[in-house]
Amino acid sequence: MSTLIDGKALSLSLKEQMRDRIVELEAKYGRKPCLAVIIVGDNPASRSYVRGKIKAAEFTGMDSRLVELPEDVSQDGLLDVIAGLNAEAAVDGILVQLPLPKHIDEDKVIDSIAIEKDVDGFHPQNVANLWLGRKCIVPCTPKGIITMIESTGVDIQGKKAVVIGRSNIVGKPVAKLLLDRNATVTIAHSRTKDLAKVAAEADILVAAVGRPKMVTADMVKPGAVVIDVGINRISVPGPDGEPVNKLVGDVDFDAASQVAGYITPVPGGVGPMTITMLMENTIECFLNRQ
Ligand code: NAD
Repeated sequence: MSTLIDGKALSLSLKEQMRDRIVELEAKYGRKPCLAVIIVGDNPASRSYVRGKIKAAEFTGMDSRLVELPEDVSQDGLLDVIAGLNAEAAVDGILVQLPLPKHIDEDKVIDSIAIEKDVDGFHPQNVANLWLGRKCIVPCTPKGIITMIESTGVDIQGKKAVVIGRSNIVGKPVAKLLLDRNATVTIAHSRTKDLAKVAAEADILVAAVGRPKMVTADMVKPGAVVIDVGINRISVPGPDGEPVNKLVGDVDFDAASQVAGYITPVPGGVGPMTITMLMENTIECFLNRQ
């Protein structure tokens, strides 16, 4: 039976420390860090993520601002809002909730965020700095994943790490962060041959795919650290037989937790840590701007 890496509890303790830190920062600099979150349209999942981010900002005591724009806002309209926030001295971090409606070019939007306010770490200059090993804002989900692995006390150096998924927001950056910590890293993906064999060699296994329960117990090396990034909404029979929605990860938790050494749950694992790292990044941007 494995040890649970409790992302919710770890997040709470980090946010409590940030609360004290923000009091000190305000006393020292005369203002608090401020996060601006922009949401376009009414996508229910995006709305729920944004609510979580604003709630976390309020919990830590930092300032936050929610900018809500209609689904049909023009690309130029959105870029104008970002330009305004870029110019505003009191705003330290700007996050545009993705995905955006199809008529808006996401790359143009990300590129328009001032690099010093890029709390998501998605700006190409930030990405380049990450891969060059220079000072940068580390993207929130990969940063949260590393924090969770390090919380176990398992030394990453020399370990075999397998990351399933190669997205720009999770798979690729988390692979680089593991490499920085001297793991031997494999990035597996949809065209990987014999994925089960590749995964089963991992001392550290990160699943960031978006396929419910695709990582089965036979893909987990006994004692491995398993990080489940996936957020999948599935329908299961409820108590009265009616279908109800349930959140599950990419890992078959019940079976894999019999084999793994450490494992993250879904929900309550990587999700809350992503939001907490966003708070850390906002504080980092604030400090960089002083
Ligand atoms: P994505 O959707 O951009 O890409 C999925 C990746 O999985 C691709 O690189 C693809 O090659 C790989 N893949 C697809 N099918 C595969 C298969 N059968 N075998 C092996 N690899 C396969 O991914 P993303 O944006 O990184 O999101 C992945 C999951 O993580 C989603 O469920 C998403 O909701 C979740 N997510 C969670 C958080 C969080 O904070 N918890 C943050 C970001 C993403």
